[in-house]
Amino acid sequence: MRYLILSDIHANWEGLAAVLESAAGLYDRIVCCGDLIGYGADPNPVVDWTRANIAMVVRGNHDRACTGLDDLEWFNPVARAAATWTLQALGPENADYVRALPKGPLMAGGFALMHGSPMDEDQYVVEARDAAPVFSYLEAPVAFFGHTHLQGGFVWIRQRARLLRIPADGLVELDPECAYLLNPGSVGQPRDGDPRAAYIVYNPEERIVQFHRVPYDVATAQNKIRRAGLPQVLADRLAVGR
Ligand code: ZN
Repeated sequence: MRYLILSDIHANWEGLAAVLESAAGLYDRIVCCGDLIGYGADPNPVVDWTRANIAMVVRGNHDRACTGLDDLEWFNPVARAAATWTLQALGPENADYVRALPKGPLMAGGFALMHGSPMDEDQYVVEARDAAPVFSYLEAPVAFFGHTHLQGGFVWIRQRARLLRIPADGLVELDPECAYLLNPGSVGQPRDGDPRAAYIVYNPEERIVQFHRVPYDVATAQNKIRRAGLPQVLADRLAVGR
């Protein structure tokens, strides 16, 4: 079984469509580390597609905020405006689906799936020192997370957490002696300086993780955000991946 690992789609239909086209034939099942919606202008197409196609999704903080589960006071003004817009735009069945998404971590095919960390679904795991305590809470030697919108991850080797270096070809062979905390990056709003949509294909039998980036129609996604009356900065940042 080969898995397409997605995260942080954020209602960006163009990003998602490009990922699916690029990954066609490379996977058998799709799983997602959360944040289906919020920021982008296509929450209904993304959730419709998710309901039909994704085997397992954990909820993200924007999935909670955009369906009324969270107090929006905790969000910055831009995220709050997007959450309010999404709450109004989302169809009732899609809102029910998102509201019912499970909190991570979930186990899927021998690996774990979470939005932030096993201790806190809202934790940003950015540096090796953030990742170090996470490894002791993992129920599987391979776990996927999102939330930071930074493609990459961490490896637990010789009792230490280290930043994983992604080689130029994106291919990482997993060492059975190590544990891995891996982030596919964001489909819909990358923040690592690379505006291309990000994803992982994982083959547990062969112990291979392939990191991917794919260009998508950023201009169309931006135009939809502007036409929807969402904050301008949400359109601007897609072009620079920040
Ligand atoms: Zn997110």
